[in-house]
Amino acid sequence: MITAYHRPKTLDEALTLLTQPNILPLGGGTLLSHASSSPSATDAVEVVDLQSLGLDFIKKSGNNPSTGSGQRLDMGATVTLQGLLENEHCPDALKSALKLEAPLNLRNAATVAGTLVSCDGRSTFATVMLALDAKIEQTTLDNSKTESRLSNIGEFLPLRPRGLITSITIPLNAKLAFDYVSRTPADKPIVCAALVQWNSGRTRLALGGHGKSPILAMDGTEPEGIKAAARNAFHEATDEWASAGYRMDVAATLARRCLDEMSQ
Ligand SMILES: Cc1cc2nc3c(=O)[nH]c(=O)nc-3n(C[C@H](O)[C@H](O)[C@H](O)COP(=O)(O)OP(=O)(O)OC[C@H]3O[C@@H](n4cnc5c(N)ncnc54)[C@H](O)[C@@H]3O)c2cc1C
Repeated sequence: MITAYHRPKTLDEALTLLTQPNILPLGGGTLLSHASSSPSATDAVEVVDLQSLGLDFIKKSGNNPSTGSGQRLDMGATVTLQGLLENEHCPDALKSALKLEAPLNLRNAATVAGTLVSCDGRSTFATVMLALDAKIEQTTLDNSKTESRLSNIGEFLPLRPRGLITSITIPLNAKLAFDYVSRTPADKPIVCAALVQWNSGRTRLALGGHGKSPILAMDGTEPEGIKAAARNAFHEATDEWASAGYRMDVAATLARRCLDEMSQ
């Protein structure tokens, strides 16, 4: 239950509020403001609404020939899933994953940061972000000093460390493919696969559809062994939706399909 609401106008104000106990950042509020079926005193939280902090930017940058840096997309924490989907620089495969993440009404409110903080293994958005090796910037206030820390999404997802997410960055200089299997075309996936390949040959395969977070099945210098990596990642992935054996077969097939799509 939300017991107090703050809407700071600056990042410093927000960070100061967030140093207090039992106070959480509010993104789209689709999860935080969802009434609990059995509210109790322990559910009581104060929230810091992030919408006035100017963190709703999407910016393409990089590709500086003198530094050789690749193109990337920087997005503020409060960019909505729909805002990202409609952005001209959003890769097509990421758009497909965003459409599966949530229906339009939720996509219009839910933010990229709130979604990564609260996602589970069936999150198509988080699966693609993991394959892209997204970088997450978190900012905290420690002893009146603002500190920013950049982590790879692969480090962030298992721990979900506290700290305000201010921005998320993905590369645009890599090929991306996404595919999935679900009960119906618009349902959450039983298995989904996201494959990213850089010009250097670096290949990352992330799998979703099971457990608490998507899994990084492979991060190698070439796609050799991708089907085996996909199978290995799901060898214990049994739940009420599918057996591990089924998921292993589907993951290997989806990984191969993604690879085929890239080589066309
Ligand atoms: C009807 C309905 C159906 C849903 N179905 C699903 C579903 O199938 N699968 C699913 O995974 N989720 C589901 N959700 C949950 C929710 O929609 C998503 O997880 C959503 O993407 C959360 O994003 P948000 O911006 O609304 O987060 P919020 O509700 O604002 O916050 C979620 C969490 O993220 C934290 N947070 C938000 N922004 C930041 C930030 N910048 N830095 C650090 N922490 C932050 C909050 O403190 C909170 O702990 C559903 C919700 C509703 C209402």
